[in-house]
Amino acid sequence: FNHNYEVKLQAEKFLHQKVADYKAHPIVVEKSTSVYDAIVQLFLEDVGTLYAVDGEGQLAGVISRKDLLRTAIGNKNLNELPVSVIMTRMPNIITIKPDETLLEAAKKMISNHIDSLPVVKELEQKTDTYLLIGRITKTTITRAYLEIMDQKLG
Ligand code: ADP
Repeated sequence: FNHNYEVKLQAEKFLHQKVADYKAHPIVVEKSTSVYDAIVQLFLEDVGTLYAVDGEGQLAGVISRKDLLRTAIGNKNLNELPVSVIMTRMPNIITIKPDETLLEAAKKMISNHIDSLPVVKELEQKTDTYLLIGRITKTTITRAYLEIMDQKLG
């Protein structure tokens, strides 16, 4: 009984953790960056997804591994093609706020079939304009799960 109860408590604790406490650094490129340079960046930073920002540092797009692969098999000149042409754009980007929970992040990723979420702050004056402050990935969720479930039970 005690063991089960403990597992339940830890699991609950896990679900209520805040995005703010687990978010990772976002890897960003300027939206004018070429697809070629974005692919190089993906390898250098060892990530699966890049975020594109505009001149003011606001979130403009999401570029996934498969977005880049799809473009690379169909195009000759990846140096001439800016990521802005191939990225998933606002307002179609699924975002998360720092005060939301890991449970909400996990639900958004699963229901939208995506691997990561940009963590954003909404700018007060403009709607649909977001300042990019981090990222949450499926790896983030798995790591948090291990950390918390391991605390007492490991
Ligand atoms: P991959 O395409 O490498 O499997 P994802 O599953 O994360 O990676 O991405 C699937 C598609 O969804 C891609 O076209 C990508 O641009 C888009 N995408 C990824 N993350 C988001 C997001 N947070 N909001 C909206 N679209 C996204």
